[in-house]
Amino acid sequence: MVIKSKESLHKTLEIHKNKEKTIGLVPTMGALHDGHLALIDFAYKFCDVVVVSIFVNPTQFNNSSDLEKYPRHVEKDAAFLKKHNFKTLVFTPNVEEVYADGLKSESYNFGSIVDHMEGEFRAGHFDGVGSVLKRLFAIVSPDKAFFGEKDYQQLIAVKTLVNITGQKVEIIGCPTNRNEFGLAQSSRNFRLSDTQLKEGELIFEALSQAKSMFDDYSILDIEREVNKKFQQSTLKLEYFSIVKTKDLIPTTTKEPKEAYRGFIAAFLGDVRLIDNMALN
Ligand code: AMP
Repeated sequence: MVIKSKESLHKTLEIHKNKEKTIGLVPTMGALHDGHLALIDFAYKFCDVVVVSIFVNPTQFNNSSDLEKYPRHVEKDAAFLKKHNFKTLVFTPNVEEVYADGLKSESYNFGSIVDHMEGEFRAGHFDGVGSVLKRLFAIVSPDKAFFGEKDYQQLIAVKTLVNITGQKVEIIGCPTNRNEFGLAQSSRNFRLSDTQLKEGELIFEALSQAKSMFDDYSILDIEREVNKKFQQSTLKLEYFSIVKTKDLIPTTTKEPKEAYRGFIAAFLGDVRLIDNMALN
């Protein structure tokens, strides 16, 4: 069922809420793929009703050409969801519906977790993400909302957001869905040629190599290896960072009993891909 307006969504959800059904929200920007399906399937493990929102949020793009080129095909998306799960409520609001009081970002004090990686390379990105999610949470009033670990920094930022806003929604992370060669599924993959899709596997290979080296090598050694891998490829590495999972701050030293993750952003042509992996 595809719903465009807040009013229709409220009417539909009211019926479920009156029956004390658990409502889950899976926010997406559309161009749906198997990663989104895995996230929706995961949401159904926790919820009776799942709302999938499809909204390309202008305030989280710091680059207007990236926003312009972002793949949009809502009808195809709705058919894709229908084929896989008839129960899903698809909410496809327009910009005015979400930003009724004007298209602007609020600014949030997320702390150190947004100082590096996506926060550093995409100025204002997390304020845009926070602004749209605060609005979507207010519109849908879900009990739980689901986010992919593929965007791990976003997942942590959203957990922080609900602490800041006090909105009563539980934020749950879902493991990254990958293709058979390890490439993380992404809407941006739709813009890659077959050759580039193959080349993109390097991102997973590099993260896997960092993981396998982690116990026996220094972080500087691992960084050197990963950088070398990218220099020998057609991909342009924007960053490779090893961070403490608890604060998402890059580090070059390892402490016992501390959890670490590796994060990569890289360009294949003009398509920017990100991925990350737990290293220990
Ligand atoms: P997007 O449409 O790219 O904004 O993504 C919507 C949601 O799907 C976000 O929570 C993403 O982290 C999640 N997601 C995207 N790709 C994947 C994937 N390959 N595996 C799991 N979740 C994903």
